[in-house]
Amino acid sequence: MRKPFVAGNWKMSTDSHSSVALAEAIVADVSDAAGQRVDVAVFPPFLYLQAVCKAFNSSHIALGAQDIYFEQNGAFTGEISASMVKEIGCTYALCGHSERRHVIGEGDELVNRKVVAALSGGLLPILCVGELIKERQSSKTSEVVTRQTKAGLAGLSAEKVSGVTIAYEPVWAIGTGLTATPQQAQEAHAMIRNLVVEMYDEKLGEEIRILYGGSVKPGNAAELMAERDIDGLLVGGASLKAEDFLAIIRAAA
Ligand code: PEP
Repeated sequence: MRKPFVAGNWKMSTDSHSSVALAEAIVADVSDAAGQRVDVAVFPPFLYLQAVCKAFNSSHIALGAQDIYFEQNGAFTGEISASMVKEIGCTYALCGHSERRHVIGEGDELVNRKVVAALSGGLLPILCVGELIKERQSSKTSEVVTRQTKAGLAGLSAEKVSGVTIAYEPVWAIGTGLTATPQQAQEAHAMIRNLVVEMYDEKLGEEIRILYGGSVKPGNAAELMAERDIDGLLVGGASLKAEDFLAIIRAAA
């Protein structure tokens, strides 16, 4: 059985005060929301990771970095390494989020180096994949998602990939209010799971968690989670309101 996993990506949307206030509001109710039945993680802006970590204290909520650089240290102005975020309490790192790919311009090869660096640095990467609207409209969803998944996991053994979570996030659904239907999401998730079976083996395919992301809200979380291959949710906008994020966690439990 795959344990449900709900992750909140705060992007560049909180400041020091609101980061701590949001963390405190989540931690105050998370056990009621899910007990230990759901893995929960949040991804605050880098600057506030330590303050959020302190606010979470000994709760079971994990912390993640929204990105990392693939080198460990050195002359890489402005970058932050896996070991740096690990040292201040991160468990996870997002790799290849659609805004990194399509706003900042990261390609598959760079995303792969980040996944590898996260694992080598003791973090659990969440590899994000997903098609643009024009790719869906020209029936290229499967081709794009297959390419991104294969490239993202390139060179990794099954043992290493057991530490990876994949997030299917159709770019047209992120921050737009449009959500993939449960059927569209399930189709993509099943395709990714079959790909993992082909690339590795049945066991890893059954074990790997695949999250859906793209305008998840309290009102659509349960129907998405009801699909066989949807193991959790990566939430952007709705993770910025504690009561919405908690309702989504409840729906996943
Ligand atoms: C995301 O940032 O990964 C995301 C899915 O955002 P939203 O929920 O706002 O669409």
